[in-house]
Amino acid sequence: MVERLLVLGGSAEARELAGRVHADMAESVSVVTSFAGRKRRRAAVAGEVRGGGFGGTRALADYLVVNGVRWLIDASHPFAEQISANAHDACVLAGVPRLTLRRPTFEPPSNARWLVVDSLVKASEILPRVAKRAFLAIGRQGAAFFTDVAGVHMVVRVIDNGPLPLRPESHTVIVARPPYSEEDERRLFREHAIDTLVARDAGGSPGEAKLRAAAELGIRMILVEPPLPEPGPLVSSVDDAIVWLRERVGDGI
Ligand code: NAP
Repeated sequence: MVERLLVLGGSAEARELAGRVHADMAESVSVVTSFAGRKRRRAAVAGEVRGGGFGGTRALADYLVVNGVRWLIDASHPFAEQISANAHDACVLAGVPRLTLRRPTFEPPSNARWLVVDSLVKASEILPRVAKRAFLAIGRQGAAFFTDVAGVHMVVRVIDNGPLPLRPESHTVIVARPPYSEEDERRLFREHAIDTLVARDAGGSPGEAKLRAAAELGIRMILVEPPLPEPGPLVSSVDDAIVWLRERVGDGI
């Protein structure tokens, strides 16, 4: 019997997980990966794909029941708090077992100069006290928290062009699309004489290139820690997510 797995997408691990389940477990599991549907371009994903919000917790619970979803694996981005909270509650409502797949956070080398804060607001308060030229790797929405920062020139990297909510003289915009190699990041930091990097600690190898580059150049890092995962089973690798799934397939769990 083939049963349905819903993967909440938004991370590289979600894509890898869908690929592995589709390739190795197709005789017992059909995988559907769900995306918020905001990206203009998206890498190919194996199995079925759906896009767009469900319409809140209750609607997600209905989706799970109507579509006969047997398991849900939340592999959304570590900072996507809302969909994870909705998935937690919807799975309780619908009686669907749920696993969170969350990659480990960054392990800085021992010589790195870094500070962990719990919010972008905190990072924006600290920045003028420590930096003259900062690199903000926090996206367009994140930049909105830095509108009132004075005395710091901010180099902001975004994926799509468009106005930023910052004073024109206070920033430089770089439009670029990941992945970025460690070498690219080092070159960029040197070119803009960056002394401080502000980033969210979302873990994962693509995002870590900038952190490793900053550590190597002795650039100070202000890292925003991710929100706590929802309560319940948690794994940090695709391998462990596959183990969790295999234990359940055919066992009626
Ligand atoms: P969010 O605040 O957690 O979610 C906002 C709403 O978007 C959710 O309530 C849900 O709408 C919809 N949504 C989010 N993820 C979805 C998914 N995988 N499938 C279907 N609907 C989804 O999320 P966000 O921070 O705006 O991020 C949007 C998407 O981009 C997420 O999939 C996330 O994994 C990915 N992403 C986020 C970040 C980040 O820094 N936050 C970075 C990279 C990728 P309904 O309530 O209508 O169901």
